[in-house]
Amino acid sequence: MGETKGGDADRRIGRRALLIGGAAAAVGTAVLAREELAHLWWRLPGVEKPRVAGAVDFRGAQWVAASSANWRRADRPDDYAVDRVVVHVTQGSFKSAVKVFQDPGHGAAAHYIVRKDGHITQMIRELDVAFHAGNREYNERSVGIEHEGFVESASSFTDAMYEASARLTAGICGRYGIPVDRAHIIGHVEVPGTDHTDPGPHWDWDRYLKLVRRARTA
Ligand SMILES: [Zn+2]
Repeated sequence: MGETKGGDADRRIGRRALLIGGAAAAVGTAVLAREELAHLWWRLPGVEKPRVAGAVDFRGAQWVAASSANWRRADRPDDYAVDRVVVHVTQGSFKSAVKVFQDPGHGAAAHYIVRKDGHITQMIRELDVAFHAGNREYNERSVGIEHEGFVESASSFTDAMYEASARLTAGICGRYGIPVDRAHIIGHVEVPGTDHTDPGPHWDWDRYLKLVRRARTA
């Protein structure tokens, strides 16, 4: 605290101390609140990451918003660490997957959908929790990628799809420091408690991981 030399200075310092005191109190509150509200603290003013309309996390992806009923607002990776990529298969066309993810009655959606021709649509921001794994903890810790096709049909999975999806997963692994291995890049079938079987026996994991590794080092 500086010396005071008269009325004017006093007023100035008094006012400044008040401002600093106010800021300190606000920081203290935020720290306390963060402890308690670790998973809600995006609600505090000024701590939310910027949300630009139509912005995507993967360059080249096209943004189509999912219904807000199919995901939960979060601030990953600050509130939840992201350490898994979950691979899904849509069991229907790309179009129908986009449509159901836009439907508030569906109750589920993934962050991304990869089309047969390699086109990628992002429907939920990576910082938010998508309802795709059927397991709250796995939803919170993962990014979900849907692939157009059917688990029982080997021809669903095209070269273009594998390559585009591998680039997408490589980017996700890079952003969050996720190791490129089968412990961290998993199928929906491997999520604890699930009754889903995707991506199924025709999904070529060796090929996929090789492509992800190649894209990671490219
Ligand atoms: Zn699935």
